[in-house]
Order: sequence, then C-alpha cells, then structure tokens
Amino acid sequence: MRKTRIAGAFAGIAIAALALTACNSGTPGAEPGTGDATGDAATSENPWTVATDVTLEGSPTFDRIKAAGKVKIGVKEDQPGLGYLDPATNVRSGFDIDIARWIAASLGYDEDDIEFTAIPSANREQAIVNGDVDYYVGTYSITDKRKEQISFAGPYFITGQGLLVAADNDTITGKDSLTADDIVCSATGSTSIQRIKDETPAQTKEYDTYSACVEDLKNGQVDAVTTDEAILIGYAAQDPDNLKVVGEVFSEERYGVGIAKGDTALQEFINTMFTDGGEVWQAIFDKNLGASGVKATQPDVDPVG
Ligand code: GLU
Repeated sequence: MRKTRIAGAFAGIAIAALALTACNSGTPGAEPGTGDATGDAATSENPWTVATDVTLEGSPTFDRIKAAGKVKIGVKEDQPGLGYLDPATNVRSGFDIDIARWIAASLGYDEDDIEFTAIPSANREQAIVNGDVDYYVGTYSITDKRKEQISFAGPYFITGQGLLVAADNDTITGKDSLTADDIVCSATGSTSIQRIKDETPAQTKEYDTYSACVEDLKNGQVDAVTTDEAILIGYAAQDPDNLKVVGEVFSEERYGVGIAKGDTALQEFINTMFTDGGEVWQAIFDKNLGASGVKATQPDVDPVG
C-alpha cells in the first residue's frame, strides 16, 4: 500500500460527468426487433419482439430449452449498467441483461420464462459445460483458452481493461504507474487479474466478484480495482465522490455470449440476430449505457466465435 495520497481537486467532477442515470426516460423510440414472427410488441423499455413459432434445427441447447419450457441464463448481478440485481426492488437491469432478454425473446421466450442465475467469472465455463445454463451473458471476453471448453456468439460489445482508484489517489495514473507497492484487486478467473500478474509488478488480491474488490478499495485495503472499463465506470458512477477511473485502457475485451461448445446452430442464430438487429442493439445500449460515458458502437460478429 502507498501511504501518501494527494487530493485530486477535479477528480470528483470528472467522474460525476460519467454518472450513470437510473432514469431511462431518455430512451429513444425503438423499432421492432428481428424476425418476422411477432408475439409481444417491442417497446422502448424492451426494444425487442418476442418471436413465435421459432424453429432451430440442430441445436441441442434449443431442444433443451423447449423441453424445459424456460431459458436458463447465467449473468452477473453486481455490475451496475451491465448486469445488476437491485437488492431493494429485485429488478434486474443492464446492457448484458437486456442482451440476454433479447436473445430469449428471439427464441420465443419472454421475461416470465427466464431463469437468471448469477455465476462468477471463474465458474462460467463449467456452468456452460454442465448445462446449468443455456447461455451466459456477463462481460464474458472471448478468448482462445475459453474456446477450448465452450463456444461464443458475438462479439456484441468491445471494451478494454482499466483501473479504478480512490478519488484522492494521484499516484496511480494508469497501468504503467503500478509498482510493487501497489495492491490491485480483481476477480478470480478473469482476463483482468491475469494481465496484471503477467504485465505489472503490482501485488494482487482476488475475490469472486468485483464488488468485493470495490468494498476493499473504499476501505483502503487495496490501492486499485482492475477490470473492464465499462464495469469500472458503473462502480465510479455509484460513488463519484470516492472513486475514479484513471488512465488509458490497456487491452481489448470482446464480449461474447457463452454457449455450449459446438452448438453452431445456436451460435449462427444469435449472430444473425445481432447482425440484423442493429436498431435493437442501439436501443439497448442507449437505455443502459447511453448516459454513462461508456463509448461503444456495435461490433461486427465473428462467424467463428
Ligand atoms: N471481460 C473480462 C473477462 O471475461 C473481465 C470481466 C469479467 O470477469 O467478467 O474475464
């Protein structure tokens, strides 16, 4: 831990400008979703359409969903703006959650048919391999190592790794400023913790979740939290007086939908949905991240996931 910190007079203002808004009244009117079959109509709050009479040949996952009559989706629930469960209202929100709902709707399943399960970074591949979830949508970077066990649809979003520090910390200004005195916290099994271990002299601390790291940061137990900037901006927005995101991003994280390895029918279905559904993607982005300061445009899908 470093002992001396100099107050950054403008840090709070900078982060306040990035603040996420809980109010979605600025959502633009959205066009209906993909596909020609329409059940429930698209709205600006749910800018997709629940399809009817969906057939998907050759997808073991879709066969399982049909047999169960429900969709089991793995998500995060402590990442505001991306995957969040409000403990007071029990309402799930975020860009990833809406991407997950859009996929379910395109398969013919609405909110009542979805069973969300929070699964931490380290347990995602195993949950998919076990069939505990039909698919996973939660800041899940596409990597070759993960592709040994599972497949990905997408990418549907691109961000990069960043650093979150105390608002009055002026010594950590980016990845290259990290020293062996710094303790950097991240999630077990993430690309973020691995990169800090591989590319910096900093000490590391690991938890299942990033929110546990943020608590440690607020209590002065660690010097920085590292993960994707889109995630960090959500935490900073919740506590702009005490937290700030610093420096340039230092990786490219391409978010994919985790699916069972080799389910190419489902992979192609989701990829086509993304490719044809640019307006829905934009409405989902605007609704959840438009006011956050997160900058992104929809990426092209990678056919080999
Ligand atoms: N996107 C990175 C990863 O998939 C970090 C965020 C996360 O752990 O979900 O490892």
